[in-house]
Amino acid sequence: MKREEFPILNEQVHGRKLVYLDNAATSQKPQCVVDAIAEAYSRWNSNIHRGVHHLSQIATQKHEDARKAVAQFINARSSDEIIFTKGTTDSINALAFSIGELLLHEGDEVIVSGVEHHSNIVPWQMACERKKSTLRHIPLREDLSLDIEAFKGLLSDRTKVVSVAHVSNVLGIIQPIEEIIRLAHERHIPVCIDGAQSVPHMSVDVQALDCDFLAFSGHKMYGPTGIGVLYGKREWLEQLPPHEGGGEMINHVRWSGTTYNDLPYKFEAGTPNYVGSHALHVAMDYIRAIGWETLEQHEHDLTHYCEQQLSAIDGVHIYAAGMPKAGVVSFNLFNNGQLIHPFDVGTLLDQQGVAVRTGHHCAEPLIDDMAVPGTVRVSFGLYNDRSDIDTFIAALRRAQMMLS
Ligand code: PLP
Repeated sequence: MKREEFPILNEQVHGRKLVYLDNAATSQKPQCVVDAIAEAYSRWNSNIHRGVHHLSQIATQKHEDARKAVAQFINARSSDEIIFTKGTTDSINALAFSIGELLLHEGDEVIVSGVEHHSNIVPWQMACERKKSTLRHIPLREDLSLDIEAFKGLLSDRTKVVSVAHVSNVLGIIQPIEEIIRLAHERHIPVCIDGAQSVPHMSVDVQALDCDFLAFSGHKMYGPTGIGVLYGKREWLEQLPPHEGGGEMINHVRWSGTTYNDLPYKFEAGTPNYVGSHALHVAMDYIRAIGWETLEQHEHDLTHYCEQQLSAIDGVHIYAAGMPKAGVVSFNLFNNGQLIHPFDVGTLLDQQGVAVRTGHHCAEPLIDDMAVPGTVRVSFGLYNDRSDIDTFIAALRRAQMMLS
């Protein structure tokens, strides 16, 4: 599907055709996104919002059109609820700081889950440290699913915010966020969803989910690096203090003090990434033109096929096999019960032109829980097909022979 529209996929790696299976880390870009960036700098680059001149007005229009497109993409009520950031990490850092200022006091608690990426752990740890609060996490069951009964036990009057990944970047499991949101809302606790691994792979509707915040990155959804989104319900964003000060986020600055701008600008200090937001808009249009049903079905088929092919190899252990997943499969290779280090597997795959990710995937607490040094992770995008998986499986069999 659409492979020819991604120029990088014509590259050779170590003399072989590139098979790119590292989409959870970042996706490749279609030509229309590459062209959008080149066109922006060739034809209309100009700083936005403050300019009366022609180019500035074009750039401002493109940035604000992109904001409206993001609102539509995730079904937000209003584009005022869309804050442009550098990416998921930046979004969660901003939120953790602001929530910390507004809601956290000594003795309060924040809950994340046991599968989180570091970017949904460390910002909350920092906020908790600043506010003498405690970070708790939802433990995992034996099968690596979240222990929702334990989550119920963690919720209390001390809980001030819950922040969980929609899809685990290590295991690919689609988490039961609807239930998590419902349980937290019964106690009027706001919920942030880390959508870094869900928004690129499935239709995410913030009104249907009723999440209070959603963070995601442009570069994982066929858009450019350096642009991301923090969605927040208006009633929360209006209360939260800004996390950064500077130009654009102000209404008036006097020596006696500063008043802040309206939403969403209160949270967008400095020159925003208007080229990035425009290219993200192009990427979202690209996804919409394919359609969620086609995309989800395609990636579901690849995940299923990959697990099927992997399980036919002796010595492969797939983590969370058979669970509902979004485009990610993690496994390890064993030789007579001894784990072969995922780094060695990844290196031998790379030599055969197959790009996968190995290691802790920025989720060390989860990897510690799994009691392994890391995993080999394959992750899919819309341009992958079954032949990529066949090439990967053949390369894995050769790697296994060399390492046994
Ligand atoms: N959260 C999850 C679940 C991720 O997979 C990632 C990146 O892999 C991030 C957050 C951080 O995203 P970024 O590096 O784009 O800020």
